[in-house]
Amino acid sequence: MPHKLLKLLLGSYQWLASYWPVLMPRGIRLYTFEQIPLFMKENPYITDGYRARLQSKLCLKSIFVLSNETVNIWTHLLGFLLFFLLGVNDMSTVLPASGANREDYVIYCIALFCFQVCMLCSAGYHMFSCHLSEKTCHRWLALDFVGISVGILGCYIPGVFYAFYCITFWRQVYLVTALALILAVFLAQIHPHYHSKEWRHQRTAIFCSVAGYGIIPAGHWVWLNEGLGSAVVQLFLPRVIVMYLIAGAAFLFYISKIPERCFPGQLNYLGASHQVWHVLVVFLLYWWHQTAVYIMKFRHSQPCPPFYTQPGLID
Ligand SMILES: [Zn+2]
Repeated sequence: MPHKLLKLLLGSYQWLASYWPVLMPRGIRLYTFEQIPLFMKENPYITDGYRARLQSKLCLKSIFVLSNETVNIWTHLLGFLLFFLLGVNDMSTVLPASGANREDYVIYCIALFCFQVCMLCSAGYHMFSCHLSEKTCHRWLALDFVGISVGILGCYIPGVFYAFYCITFWRQVYLVTALALILAVFLAQIHPHYHSKEWRHQRTAIFCSVAGYGIIPAGHWVWLNEGLGSAVVQLFLPRVIVMYLIAGAAFLFYISKIPERCFPGQLNYLGASHQVWHVLVVFLLYWWHQTAVYIMKFRHSQPCPPFYTQPGLID
């Protein structure tokens, strides 16, 4: 019975989607999976609703057309707006009220800039993935990957900066290492096969390594703070764990193509795995921003623990 109800719901929204193209601008039409160029064929479970073979101007116009990329485009355009507004609010209200110094402003500017770049690169890729030129589509895909790396960097910077607030040496070590890793990913992108379908697994492994690397500074931070029993670890470690859980869930949707794999052709416009990935990425960055605000306030309200003030442990 629940399966029947689900089918009915899916059917009714597919029906709505079929009437939407009445409002479609001239020169834009939607294609089925069989009709699109080979380089666009990524997900066979999304069977319809493809924009294809469009000039740049029509790619831009097509963001107002209900296609299988509409949710992907708008989740990250709205995500960009969210992080822009959070930036304005941080600079005008949150940071001044928390007694922030110049370093805090720099860290928040960099992190929020990274989040906005991540959102814009992704929205841009989904806008122009229907471009006439295969080369243009691949360039936008490359930019999407750059955006993901920049987004990860935006998580590392405030995380490491406030976790190692009292130990400049380790703060520098982990910030430089994270930056080096991101630069290595950029360099890897120069490889001619990097964006090919054959390199999908290598790409996934690289991104997982860069994101998973954060477990090392996190573990070190727990150890420096005298283990899981300490108050500061109990305060912040759950937030780090939640961040990794969201990232893990987002990644599972991304690679498994679930749920559309279970309902081929039923989730062309809404509910597909890539849309869930987008929503979870926005939520993850928002969660990390809130964590950064929380830990920044904590650092300004508490002096560094005596452990760090022993000679040789601080600079
Ligand atoms: Zn995407």
